[in-house]
Amino acid sequence: MAAKVSMSEFQATAVDAIPQITNSVRGTFRTHKTKKLQWRQVQLRKLYWALEDYTPQLLAALAKDLHKSDFEALITEIDWLKKDCIFMLDHLEKYAKDDKLGSPDLPPPFSLMNYRVRKEPLGTVLIIGPYNFPVQLLLAPFVGAIAAGCTAVLKPSEVTPACAMVLKALIETRLDTTAFAVVNGGIPETTALLNEKWDKIFFTGSAAVGTIVAKKAAETLTPVVLELGGRNPAFITKHANLALAARRLLWGKTMNAGQVCLSQNYVLIDKDVGPTFIEHLKQAYRDMFPNGAKASPDLARIVNHKHFLRLKKMLDGTKGKIVMGGALDESELFIEPTAVLVSSVDDPMMQEESFGPIFCIYPVNSLDEALNVANRVHRTPLALFSFGSKAENQRVLNEMTSGGATLNDAFFHASVNSIPFGGVGDSGWGVYRGKASFDCFTHFRTVSETPAWAEKIIDVRYMPYNMAKLKL
Ligand code: NAD
Repeated sequence: MAAKVSMSEFQATAVDAIPQITNSVRGTFRTHKTKKLQWRQVQLRKLYWALEDYTPQLLAALAKDLHKSDFEALITEIDWLKKDCIFMLDHLEKYAKDDKLGSPDLPPPFSLMNYRVRKEPLGTVLIIGPYNFPVQLLLAPFVGAIAAGCTAVLKPSEVTPACAMVLKALIETRLDTTAFAVVNGGIPETTALLNEKWDKIFFTGSAAVGTIVAKKAAETLTPVVLELGGRNPAFITKHANLALAARRLLWGKTMNAGQVCLSQNYVLIDKDVGPTFIEHLKQAYRDMFPNGAKASPDLARIVNHKHFLRLKKMLDGTKGKIVMGGALDESELFIEPTAVLVSSVDDPMMQEESFGPIFCIYPVNSLDEALNVANRVHRTPLALFSFGSKAENQRVLNEMTSGGATLNDAFFHASVNSIPFGGVGDSGWGVYRGKASFDCFTHFRTVSETPAWAEKIIDVRYMPYNMAKLKL
């Protein structure tokens, strides 16, 4: 394994410097230079080329922090973001244009006047990232902020220190540093950032910290986007293709060693097909890891000891039976992809967010029971997955909500850059990606202009009112 970045190599930003950094990027917003479309396009191009040029450093940092394979690092982080830049550059002119309103949006006499919606940048925004996709989840919202014409301060996760340092270098050597800054650090630095006034805060992370962010933002009525976690259910009925379900759900728990906000926390399976599903799961494991998961160069590691111990505690605390995997090696922060067969909804494996390569299987008598259990465990998860007949999948969608959903697969609904992504209820507020990223940092400002000649048509509004003139 690559050596971890020690905390001495990681340099936190001085807390005292944070107000000055914020004021500086705020001052730049007031110069109006970021509103020019051409400036935004140049910054997006610079970000694209910075990602290209910094690819070796980013790959090395992702390997150090998470033991992430180059394959995953490219697909889910670096190339993903380059595609984001290209998508935004291709669409920006169209998104940034005023929407001119006329007939049929407006009834007469308004249709004769000039109504339009201007797309204005919200201002100076704060983007706070998590550790699991430390590059993608910090920079994908940033693409939206640049495109909208905002200035921004970015706060990478300190839990992935090597990535945090490369991200700082990448932004501050290649983009306009009068408009963008990276603040590195943990709780003290983020707290200092939250003490500043922002025009929007975009936060990705846990519900616990999301609550802190939302409370702080409420003090100054600052709008927030929260991209949080959830306990995501997978439903498997008798009509599912069990081999496919096993393979796909195992994929959901092996990518980034299951440190994916969208991966399934628990599987609710018809009890008649449970044993066959488990056999397929074991076969899928053998296919993916012919020499065992530990020997695989592809499997990431748990990010640090704290999270390793959190996951170990879940496995120690379960009353369920391990039916696949179960090996742990603290010295390598290795946890084998593990499935646990549980018999109680109160089991910690059911109740806590796993956010790692472990999940549980809970047999049920019917889809009715499965929907009941899932709605009790977490009514508004970030994602759900349904493996059943068309009618059963439809029923799951109708009777349980979630941020997004995938039928007959693990989190594929979130595998496309350009479609809206977000949670619902306590798994998140707001969406981004594609056009939604632009909209997220944009103020839609309606402007009307009333020509003098219209006076005769609209003079009905003046006192003294005349009911006879009112044509309802
Ligand atoms: P986290 O909430 O611990 O940290 C996120 C950010 O908040 C970090 O930058 C961290 O420095 C900062 N932070 C931590 N404690 C803070 C405090 N007390 N005050 C102010 N700031 C603080 O989350 P994490 O451990 O990095 O990520 C894991 C969580 O994020 C999981 O719950 C996962 O489901 C969720 N997540 C959600 C999404 C999504 O898109 N919905 C994506 C990735 C991760």
